[in-house]
Amino acid sequence: MTIRLCQRASASCGACCGLYNSVDHSRGAVEAELWRRTRALARVPREEGAFRRAAAALAEDGPAPLFPSVRICPLLGFLDAAGERVGCLAHPLAAGGQDLRACGVYDVLTCEAFLCPSHAWLTEEEAQLCEAAALGWHLYGLVVTDVPFLRAVLGAVAARTGARVERRHLAREPFRAALARLLALKEELEPGSEGLFGAFKPGRDGEPVPRRIDYEALARETSPYDTILTCVGADPRSGNDLDRLEAEVRARLDACAEASAPGRGGARRPVTP
Ligand code: SF4
Ligand code: SF4
Repeated sequence: MTIRLCQRASASCGACCGLYNSVDHSRGAVEAELWRRTRALARVPREEGAFRRAAAALAEDGPAPLFPSVRICPLLGFLDAAGERVGCLAHPLAAGGQDLRACGVYDVLTCEAFLCPSHAWLTEEEAQLCEAAALGWHLYGLVVTDVPFLRAVLGAVAARTGARVERRHLAREPFRAALARLLALKEELEPGSEGLFGAFKPGRDGEPVPRRIDYEALARETSPYDTILTCVGADPRSGNDLDRLEAEVRARLDACAEASAPGRGGARRPVTP
């Protein structure tokens, strides 16, 4: 069964529509762009000619892409008044029954059929954990499209607490918040860092191939948190401070452990509901 990642009950993603492909991909900048499109398109008649013209105008005034070869669709915006759900404003469910997706950067078939590799690699349980962590649209999209990062974080937490992270554990707010803060490392990288797009590269056999930090060149030992750090692009050459990020990983893991077993240091103790 194919899992659903794009639009879940309390989570949404628009990464493959170019959500993060801007020089300034901070949450504030991305959010402002989504509102600009949402407000502009709300005034446009639901017909193809008008939508095409509006899309072209929005694209022309849009932010500069970080990767010019990756398309940015100007029809991605907020589906709700509160700005909590990101999604396609040209989808029939958002455009009064009209399918206006051909006015974007792909044809309708591509928009309809595309599923990013996370759909093949993530389990439904992992998807549920991402959703239950209540990350918000900006972070959810970054995490759900980076399977090695998510698995490395969950594995590191399990190693510290002595128990596999399960959905029921996230019902405890201190633990949920601590886990979300650990995952939020993805939102805190230096502007332009490739870590934001760290995700994974499919290898020849289709399995993800992780990036690599050149520890030899840095004359230091491989970090015990290497996978997490690799997935956030914590290589100095990508503009991030490896030592600072490593310290952050350690501190945020400590917080997860403490939240799982308050007052006992958390280490090697099971996370209990
Ligand atoms: S990147 Fe994946 S999860 Fe996100 S909207 Fe695209 S297909 Fe869906
Ligand atoms: S038209 Fe296609 S690419 Fe554009 S926002 Fe909609 S689904 Fe994404």
